[in-house]
Amino acid sequence: MYRRATPRTQARTCTSVEAELARFRRAAAQAKEQLYEVQGRALSVAGEDTAAIFQAQQMILEDPTLLDAVEDQIRAGLDAEAALVQEIDRLAAMLAGLDGSYLRERASDVRDVGLRVLRLLTGIEEDSLPVSDSPIIVVAQDLSPSETAQLDRSVVLGFAIAKGGITSHTAILARGFGIPAVVGLGDSLLNEVPDGACVILDGGAGLLIVDPDAVTLDHYLHKIRLLAQREADASEVQTPGMTRDGHRIQVVANIGDVASVEQALALGAEGVGLLRTEFLFLDRKDLPDEDEQYLVYRALGTALGSRPLVIRTLDIGGDKPLPYLDLGQEANPSLGFRAIRVSLAYPELLKTQLRAILRAAVDADIKVMFPMVVTLDELQAVRECLEEARTELKRRGMACAESIEVGVMVEVPAAALTIPILARRVDFFSLGTNDLIQYTLAVDRNNERLGYLWDPLQPAVLYLIKKAIDDAHREGKWVGLCGEMASDLDAVPLLLGMGLDEFSVNPVAIPKVKALIRSLAFHDMQDLVERALQLPTAAAIRALVRETVVN
Ligand code: PEP
Ligand code: MG
Repeated sequence: MYRRATPRTQARTCTSVEAELARFRRAAAQAKEQLYEVQGRALSVAGEDTAAIFQAQQMILEDPTLLDAVEDQIRAGLDAEAALVQEIDRLAAMLAGLDGSYLRERASDVRDVGLRVLRLLTGIEEDSLPVSDSPIIVVAQDLSPSETAQLDRSVVLGFAIAKGGITSHTAILARGFGIPAVVGLGDSLLNEVPDGACVILDGGAGLLIVDPDAVTLDHYLHKIRLLAQREADASEVQTPGMTRDGHRIQVVANIGDVASVEQALALGAEGVGLLRTEFLFLDRKDLPDEDEQYLVYRALGTALGSRPLVIRTLDIGGDKPLPYLDLGQEANPSLGFRAIRVSLAYPELLKTQLRAILRAAVDADIKVMFPMVVTLDELQAVRECLEEARTELKRRGMACAESIEVGVMVEVPAAALTIPILARRVDFFSLGTNDLIQYTLAVDRNNERLGYLWDPLQPAVLYLIKKAIDDAHREGKWVGLCGEMASDLDAVPLLLGMGLDEFSVNPVAIPKVKALIRSLAFHDMQDLVERALQLPTAAAIRALVRETVVN
């Protein structure tokens, strides 16, 4: 059990305002240096996103509003400690009272920074995090980002805290550092776990089991052995995706820039199932021309060798604006002018991209895919653009692919329900579940308040996906899935059992998705799907998957 020792501050009478100001400035500067070091350590172990938390903390110590307020209090007669505590409390309370989880996180960062400076002022440099010779799980009311970064990974196996949510900085750090953690267990936690108790921490299920009985203990020991085996398997990243009983699955990557292709290949990608081309169009003042796009697509095709590359045409609008193309303001952007709707309204923009793709496809296995298709008419229209693009290239005497596989992203229920119609004009489908879930459940994918409804295992989502895959197979078309759901380890067994042909995931997820697939038997997963689809809720389906499969 860890209880944070807050340095005791006793009001002192200051003899000299100047001396007190100098003490405060020295402590603030030292705190910044410490944070710079912590940022460096976080960067080397956990990467840029995690390290950014400590960069932001340094900026708090550069904020003149806070620094001036503390100094004003010192000039008004308070000592440095009291002035600091007062202003940190005021700023943190103000941020905590504002709407939005981002600002609440800022409040906890402000407190963390305040505590660091206070320790330096009082001379207590480091807090006494638990020290132990044998492995432990830390249980605490809360851990600040600084405390989390300071945990000794050689003895701390994980932590459970009463406070925090999955998007809190502490949780982000735990993920970045690879520390198993359960957060937000509620204030009763500290009363329920005696010091030295035997506990099981199940980060995946969000559980802390105190004094487990023999059966539970056995279950978890078995799970630990299987997961260790799986981890060893994950090192076999370059083996093709295949189930235990020999059912072949493609595991490919989602990428959104050129550099990621090398990382994807190193992690075992069997190709690219989704190239988000928006990166070519963002952070600039005008549209990229055909040659510029061609060079990028060709470079990616070359890097992939004989592996497939699925290029998605520009998908802007909705939550992805393009500053130099005025798409207008809409009351309901997700249901508005976006994706293929924009492409068809600006055919020259689309045809420029298609010409670049057709040129690059001459010596690479490149396929083209259109986002957010709803009707066959749209599909006919983009196909016409594709033919016009080819004719234009030929007229110019330029080499271009004579044929190219065409796919659509199934991102709206209308497309999922009309696969047999769309199948007349496509070669493959890719389920874009980030959007498909949003439109099926009527839940804005970026609205945190509705997070409780957002679940890829909702029966409605699973019915729709199952129907789409069955219909596509009946029409002789293959189906991939490129939304985040493809790397959700509770969803993978179900998608496998439904017959999904290709999992397209973030490169870092490839080893664990491949290893999970390798541990499963296709026929067992078909049975699992049948049982899952009888259940009434996402929670029941998740529980069934976890009972059946160790993931
Ligand atoms: C999707 O919607 O699932 C998808 C892969 O596209 P994006 O996340 O780019 O909208
Ligand atoms: Mg999408």
